Amino acid sequence: MALTLFNTLGRRLEPFQPFNPDKVGFYGCGPTVYNYAHIGNLRAYVTHDLLVKTLKYLGYGVNHVMNVTDVGHLSGDDDSGDDKMVKSAAERGKSVLEIAEFYTRAFFDDLDRMNIARPQVVSKATEHIFDMIELIKRIEKAGFTYEAGGNLYFDISRFPHYGELALLRLDELRAGARTGVDENKRNPQDFVLWFTKSKFENQALSWDSPWGRGYPGWHIECSAMSIKYLGEQFDIHAGGIDHVPIHHTNEIAQSEAATGKHPWVRYWVHNEFLVMDKGKMSKSSGSFLTLQSLIDEGYGALDYRYFLLGGHYRSQLQFSFEALDGARNARRSLLDRVKALSDQAEAIPGAFPAGAEDKSGGEAQKTLDNFRAALEDDLSSPRALAELWSLVRNPRIRAGDALAAAFTMDSVFSLDLRKTALERKEGSGESEESVREIERLVAERAAAKKVKDFSTADRIRDELKEKGIALEDGPGGTVWKRL
Ligand code: AMP
Ligand code: ZN
Repeated sequence: MALTLFNTLGRRLEPFQPFNPDKVGFYGCGPTVYNYAHIGNLRAYVTHDLLVKTLKYLGYGVNHVMNVTDVGHLSGDDDSGDDKMVKSAAERGKSVLEIAEFYTRAFFDDLDRMNIARPQVVSKATEHIFDMIELIKRIEKAGFTYEAGGNLYFDISRFPHYGELALLRLDELRAGARTGVDENKRNPQDFVLWFTKSKFENQALSWDSPWGRGYPGWHIECSAMSIKYLGEQFDIHAGGIDHVPIHHTNEIAQSEAATGKHPWVRYWVHNEFLVMDKGKMSKSSGSFLTLQSLIDEGYGALDYRYFLLGGHYRSQLQFSFEALDGARNARRSLLDRVKALSDQAEAIPGAFPAGAEDKSGGEAQKTLDNFRAALEDDLSSPRALAELWSLVRNPRIRAGDALAAAFTMDSVFSLDLRKTALERKEGSGESEESVREIERLVAERAAAKKVKDFSTADRIRDELKEKGIALEDGPGGTVWKRL
């Protein structure tokens, strides 16, 4: 079997056939850096990571590009509301640049803690304004735009494929049109390519353009940057399911209008949402969970990664602390199995080499084959995880072979299995128990600080200091390290 992916464009499973297997072009929509990423956002990036690592495991080369939105994203994806960056900066009494830098760093810190590999190219919107203007010029030249009220709009009625990705029907859209959203729009689904000061009098960031001084619409950045780094047609574009009806629909319209090439992107991969008991998690409402808040509660970043891998990316996943407890326990048992296998093995092997002699009568290889088949079946990480479990529990597989196969699987899961085994063998690492105890105390101290019980907080800090642990309080929470 070869890799099949569910393509939102067409809503079906399709065999994956890239333009060039040595250089699969992959663009994943990145964060808007006006606040911390919430744990729902992190589901999107774990999905991208799963996809990239699966492609690499299957032998493809991947060119992964991700944008960082630091201008132009309004609170409504349909051009309504305020600029998220400008609003956040004003609320915090900082410049837009300071806000962008702070939350970009926090974002990559989260990715690192969750073992999410960094993309080859990370491109900031503010550094690609020239590319956006050039692309808008092409769209204008091809006859897809109009100016109204000082803004430049994309005219969706000129683009016959509009809405194909989201299965939108133009006649229905017109019939159900809301009025009063933006008087300048000929069609409610038309969208802004370039804003001038007509929208915001004192926009903090603005650039000169053929349409006046102003700034780009949000959708154009992804089209401009993906085309710049991956070409006018490329293999895979990913993002959360919420991006289907507006953001990605508009990206397609702009890109294909500019280049005249169809389809712009071959495979559209969308992750379903992480949902809370209370419903949707929203970054702009301010009430959401961050990775750091989970860590403050005593969970590891990889517990959350394990939790996410336990659900298929196309199914909604319900978050609860009980479910996260389950993931933490499962990950601990998995690490305990890996430690037990390291104790039994003569030496800690590397990953399972292709064609290695499997002394277990082929059973290690068989679980690897099943693991591969699970991933090839539209990235079924839950089934792939089940194969890892059957591997480490199989008494007929020699410890060294089991470890080697587990490390191979971990090239996709990224749960630090080899690191755990090496630490165990060398006896140089932290024991699980001591780490657990330290994290419990750090969480206890955070809780004390929350209720302004500073004497307890200080007592815990001193207690940890005596054990040789230093605490550092930062904007994202507390980190600890050995002195
Ligand atoms: P943003 O920073 O708001 O542009 O969102 C970053 C990514 O997170 C996008 O791909 C969104 O589609 C995705 N996303 C937002 N909320 C959730 C959620 N609750 N679950 C999964 N993905 C989400
Ligand atoms: Zn995008």
